[in-house]
Amino acid sequence: MMSFLLFAISFLPFFEARNTAANYIVSPPEEGAAEVRFERPVLELVSKCPACEAEGVVVLEETDFGQINATRLGKAKRIRQKCSFCGGKKSLVTFMNPNELEVQIARDFEKYKATHLAKGEIPVGNAFVPNASYEALDRKKLKLIEKTYGDACRSCHWSGIEECGKCDGRGYVKCPNGDCKGGWAVTKNTTSYSKTSSGGIRNHGSYNSSGSTRRYSRKETKVTVQLCPDCEGAKMIRCPKCLGRKAEVCKKCNGLGMKQKNF
Ligand SMILES: [Zn+2]
Ligand SMILES: [Zn+2]
Ligand SMILES: [Zn+2]
Ligand SMILES: [Zn+2]
Repeated sequence: MMSFLLFAISFLPFFEARNTAANYIVSPPEEGAAEVRFERPVLELVSKCPACEAEGVVVLEETDFGQINATRLGKAKRIRQKCSFCGGKKSLVTFMNPNELEVQIARDFEKYKATHLAKGEIPVGNAFVPNASYEALDRKKLKLIEKTYGDACRSCHWSGIEECGKCDGRGYVKCPNGDCKGGWAVTKNTTSYSKTSSGGIRNHGSYNSSGSTRRYSRKETKVTVQLCPDCEGAKMIRCPKCLGRKAEVCKKCNGLGMKQKNF
């Protein structure tokens, strides 16, 4: 059994890097100083496959849809096969839950703020400037510091991702095959046919050819049960919008997590 670790992520280094860049307005970096990198944490993780509960296989027990008595002798089928949802891998890479992420990011931002306030620094937008340098800054510079730090995207609040609206963040949708019942495709075919009977009645070994001719019609329903070709027994398919990733890159900020109008 695989274990699924939720890696702890932090946006603190990202918030600090933005602050470092904003403070270059106050005191420019020394020549040859390393460039500030605004790397955001990787927001992907390995999730348990929802179709096979991380078994890698799906086991299907055929139930009676009306076909067993009618067409089959012997017991119902039992199918065990590779999970089509994860391709037998038991897991898949998805985005983190954007709502949980938002809580985490808000917590990291509070930590960032608390650290700088504790040093007696002065907030300029989302940036913090040392008390001693603050007095010397004019309005234009203050505005520039604010802009350099930037502000959270109103839609995704720094994360750069948003929950998939098609699957409500589940990553899967119900099997689209209307005939799919629990991973089996059940199709009913009713055929009606008529037959002419020329009253052949066997009577004491001889054939009575003068018997009456009659027609009768019958209806026959055949139930065919086979592994559903759409989901291959998984009962679900990957969400066609997020492709199973549960979330998508925020459309408002193109995944940058920040308001774009300042830049
Ligand atoms: Zn699976
Ligand atoms: Zn956004
Ligand atoms: Zn299906
Ligand atoms: Zn989706």
